[in-house]
Amino acid sequence: MRAVVTGGAGFLGSHLSQTLVERGDEVVAVDNFCTGSPANVGHLHDSGRFTLLEQDLTAGLDVDGPVDLVLHFASPASPVDYLRMPIETLRVGSVGTGHALDLARDKGARFVLASTSEVYGDPQVHPQREDYWGHVNPVGPRGVYDEAKRYAEALTLAYRGSHGVDTGIVRIFNTFGPRMRPNDGRAIPNFVRQALAGEPVTVAGDGLQTRSICYVDDLVAGILAMASTGHPGPVNIGNPHEISMVDLAGWIVKLANSGSAVTHIERPVDDPTVRRPDTTLARELLGWEPKIQIEDGLRRTIGWFRDHAAAEPVLSPE
Ligand code: NAD
Ligand code: UDP
Repeated sequence: MRAVVTGGAGFLGSHLSQTLVERGDEVVAVDNFCTGSPANVGHLHDSGRFTLLEQDLTAGLDVDGPVDLVLHFASPASPVDYLRMPIETLRVGSVGTGHALDLARDKGARFVLASTSEVYGDPQVHPQREDYWGHVNPVGPRGVYDEAKRYAEALTLAYRGSHGVDTGIVRIFNTFGPRMRPNDGRAIPNFVRQALAGEPVTVAGDGLQTRSICYVDDLVAGILAMASTGHPGPVNIGNPHEISMVDLAGWIVKLANSGSAVTHIERPVDDPTVRRPDTTLARELLGWEPKIQIEDGLRRTIGWFRDHAAAEPVLSPE
């Protein structure tokens, strides 16, 4: 099989590319490196089954040869990233998604959209099932990301209906693991970096807001399971293990054997209060459920950060 992974040099894209290459598939990763890095996939070149193309998806997507699968993962994903690139985020979710869908149509490929739990916004229904329409503020700061993904979902279904493209939508919940940028502003990389440096861990607000966190290897297995069906989705992929941010910070400090204290910072505008996937559909449809214990995933992530985290400029989570 020959797959195109947009955003292939990012956190999730690099893990997807690696798993595909390791199982014998050929991968063309396409990226403009606005939040990703060629270093994330440097180890894949020796396989002879991996190509990295530098292209901005908003300008077009040009891939020669046959393509069986398009995994569309290009988009800033961390709130810090999409708040500093609001228009780029809207454009890659809209125009960029259109180009990725055009490629799938032209090549007769299966297309999988990386959508997000953010389409549920600050949810009024808990846990979130796929038939919940969400509670999003279109004119709040997070609207640039949430609405781009909601538009991308609608566009994906329109291509299925109008052009017969074999599309699938996965709604990804918070995922963590090696190759997250230590300064990408998300809670887990921040807490791990801060704990390892012995700095205070920055908990937003009272820290009682929750997220449900999934280790990256489980997420990749869920995405590839979805890719191998012809199901349109949307399907939630995430670990229902829900935890408050203050508990998560404390857990990471303990696992890192750190003496870091907790400090409280301002809570971002429209920050969702709770989030947990109902994964019934993924279980029934894909036979998928997460297998890796969160503690194990956190240990692996902390170990990777300890070995790899270079000094990078630190961005604030606001
Ligand atoms: P990331 O920032 O590490 O990766 C995104 C990649 O897309 C980067 O390599 C970036 O350079 C590339 N990119 C962005 N705009 C581009 C453009 N115009 N042209 C070409 N490449 C471009 O983020 P991630 O965490 O790996 O997220 C990947 C995808 O998964 C995103 O679409 C995100 O919305 C989705 N997602 C991630 C999570 C999560 O917890 N990580 C949760 C929900 C959804
Ligand atoms: N958060 C935090 N400290 C940080 C960064 C984030 O407490 O240093 C909080 C953030 O306000 C949110 C939660 O952690 O309530 C998850 O934030 P993240 O950016 O990781 O993901 P998202 O908000 O996109 O789910």
